[in-house]
Amino acid sequence: MNKLRNKNDKRKFIKTVVSQSLSHLLREAETTFDTHPLRSKRYIEMAWDLVKRNKLKLSTDQKSKFCRKCLIFWKIGSSLRIFFDRKKNVFFYICNSCNYKRRISNR
Ligand SMILES: [Zn+2]
Repeated sequence: MNKLRNKNDKRKFIKTVVSQSLSHLLREAETTFDTHPLRSKRYIEMAWDLVKRNKLKLSTDQKSKFCRKCLIFWKIGSSLRIFFDRKKNVFFYICNSCNYKRRISNR
């Protein structure tokens, strides 16, 4: 019983560490985007790799930070366009690099 709890604690600890490095990588991608676009992309690739390997859940904020198709940092006006569909009354994020469309809930 005791052993099991330790195992769970360990897993929780790993998750905390991983999500910390994830937000660190996303931050780095953001700061390097203008000056070193390739390095920025590399950070996103590493972050996405962490997400996949550890089955992490991204926050809505984190999800809107990068394109999950071409793994580029999303910066409004530069790598990202925002499009409003009047008929459906929804916002879309459109990746400038691969045209991936992501629906944004306005609630
Ligand atoms: Zn893209």
